[in-house]
Amino acid sequence: MNYKTIGILGGGQLGRMTALAAAPLDLKVICLTPESSSPTTGICQNIIADCSDYNALDKFADLVDIISYESENIPLTTAEYLSDKKPIAPSIEVLKICQNRLREKTFINNIGIKTADFIDIKSLADLQNGVAQFGGKAILKTAEQGYDGKGQVKINAPNECEAAYNKLADNKLILESIVVFEKEISVIVARNKSGDTACYEPVENIHENHILRQTIAPAQISDDLSKKAKQIAIKIADEIGLIGLIAVEMFVCGDDLLVNELAPRPHNSGHYTIDACITSQFEQFLRAITNLPLGNTAQHSKAEMINILGDEIHDIEQHLNQPNTKTHTYAKREARVGRKMGHVVKLG
Ligand code: AMP
Repeated sequence: MNYKTIGILGGGQLGRMTALAAAPLDLKVICLTPESSSPTTGICQNIIADCSDYNALDKFADLVDIISYESENIPLTTAEYLSDKKPIAPSIEVLKICQNRLREKTFINNIGIKTADFIDIKSLADLQNGVAQFGGKAILKTAEQGYDGKGQVKINAPNECEAAYNKLADNKLILESIVVFEKEISVIVARNKSGDTACYEPVENIHENHILRQTIAPAQISDDLSKKAKQIAIKIADEIGLIGLIAVEMFVCGDDLLVNELAPRPHNSGHYTIDACITSQFEQFLRAITNLPLGNTAQHSKAEMINILGDEIHDIEQHLNQPNTKTHTYAKREARVGRKMGHVVKLG
């Protein structure tokens, strides 16, 4: 069956750009979002409700053929409830792995792919032992719900353990060794029900205060490394049984690639594909989950994507005046510090 109406949990910029990609394929997107005014308002049908409102979930499921999500941080209970009513893609199993850094890194290591060394932390003593094992420095992270550097503390010396532990102790925790990397890259791969995969070229990501600021596409890395990065992403997509899109974030350490994180959805580092590739990541995501043939991922223009954060949205006109720049705004009303308000893509 080819699905026609796609339900998305969330109404942010990813939902917005997915809905914008849906119309040319004669697909329809319906978003479930708690916000009466969100990036998907006016772009597609929104059901305004919390994802714990089961009456609203029933209505949402009735209206759509297949359900996906904008964020891996949605409650598992919501996804499980909906999965009894309509197919969910990527699956609940994928969601479970990607929601928890311990499960995610264990899965990645089990299929023979490297990550930073890590330890499950259940007590201050675990943390002190772990930091000693990693040579006195490490990064303590919440195993769940972290994004854009939230829920992370860098420990620079053993005497910083207690403060770090007290800050995050209400959460499930993971301790990671500090990776000394040359670059951060990501690879986005799509996979459909038949097991076909289509991979974009690796891109290079530059962060500011843990928030993605800039993506350079393609990444300036050797052909060998690029091939290896794509093989890793495809292996992950195959082994996890992906239907949809997954972004694989990696650290480049010489000839080695260490996977840092998986995102089972369109990814900020793939926004450049709207303007620079034959098939955008949003179109590809829709194709993958609705059983359409996967599109050509070829990049026709070199691109640099820059995120517009917080108040910078008020100066958007300077980009509109540039001849080779494409501007995307997310229609967010409140320009909070560090909030992703839009992005621009410089082509060529
Ligand atoms: P994350 O939330 O895991 O994506 O981490 C946010 C950013 O923190 C990454 O993009 C890296 O720049 C940095 N980072 C995370 N984990 C490590 C690590 N184990 N070693 C070095 N840097 C890291």
